[in-house]
Amino acid sequence: MKSVGINGYGTIGKRVADAVSAQDDMEVVGVTKTKPDFEAELALKKGFDLYVSIPERVKLFEEAGLEISGTIDELYDKLDIIVDCTPEGIGAKNKEMYEKKGLKGIFQGGEKHDAIGLSFNSFSNYGDVYGADYARVVSCNTTGLCRTLKPIDDLCGIKKVRAVMVRRGADPAQVKKGPINSIVPNPPTVPSHHGPDVKTVLYDMDITTMALLVPTTLMHQHNLMVELESEVEVDEIIDTLNNTSRVMLMEASKGLGSTAEVMEFARDLGRSRNDLFEIAVWKESINIADGELYYMQAVHQESDAVPESVDAIRAMLEMEEDPQKSIQKTNKAMNIF
Ligand code: NAP
Repeated sequence: MKSVGINGYGTIGKRVADAVSAQDDMEVVGVTKTKPDFEAELALKKGFDLYVSIPERVKLFEEAGLEISGTIDELYDKLDIIVDCTPEGIGAKNKEMYEKKGLKGIFQGGEKHDAIGLSFNSFSNYGDVYGADYARVVSCNTTGLCRTLKPIDDLCGIKKVRAVMVRRGADPAQVKKGPINSIVPNPPTVPSHHGPDVKTVLYDMDITTMALLVPTTLMHQHNLMVELESEVEVDEIIDTLNNTSRVMLMEASKGLGSTAEVMEFARDLGRSRNDLFEIAVWKESINIADGELYYMQAVHQESDAVPESVDAIRAMLEMEEDPQKSIQKTNKAMNIF
């Protein structure tokens, strides 16, 4: 049983904590917070040991009547690996501490690839991260692109990808982010950083992306145009995506024609927090014209990359050499299709 610490128990951290707890070969030894707020209270109620990530704030937790197990310094020694789920930029700074402690660390997509040195996606480069000390799980958008592009590349080869990403303005709980009434090219420069990010795990993919922010919190939405190496039929793409783990085909004709309806489907699945770990591809959007494949997909930004953190733990701690076995084990424990 491997011991895992979660540094940062926010949108991603609390999901990774639950995902790790669902596995039978690893356990959460502690989670950290900087503030004694409702998430800290709930972490304790769920049975997680709570550590304070900024030691000077211990008093705040005591005043709030929250039972802490210590500061983050006392957590490090109990761990085989730490999953850093702090806000972007903080993880890279924390890496220096993990290095000093000789502790392996997994980072999230808000960190820059160069700051960590290695990026990870379960389907794309599991073997390259096997035994590594530090790796970054690529962002929610990049995970979404890799999940569908990799099986298509394996099927018929990809010459070139162009993608337009319609990004959610904020997560549902973020009250201070927008836009609330605008469409914002973001980043305003073309290409966006998403294409280069894909290449940190699918090294040879020729991909160019551009992105917009829109006033929605539910999901990101991607529009892909993919020049193919060899001729295939639409049905072969449909079969391939249908048989790809962590990808789901959605049909607008069955009432799933929008991100709102896709998330209603996710709520009906009855999973914790209404998470949709799978990338939802609209079946009707899949089309091929003049050797170019078109499709549209939706990404639940809060949860899609969470199972990848579990696989990254298995790869980095050399618990499972075969990516498919880790993916299947993670999926089974998390009830992922
Ligand atoms: P979040 O909801 O803001 O949670 C961040 C967590 O880190 C909170 O528990 C916070 O604790 C803690 N924290 C804040 N400052 C800290 C510090 N100085 N030291 C230690 N812990 C600190 O952020 P998130 O959305 O989960 O994002 C985490 C990472 O995942 C980022 O790299 C982000 O880019 C990436 N990511 C996010 C999404 C998404 O849609 N949200 C998707 C994919 C990847 P307190 O609340 O107690 O301050």
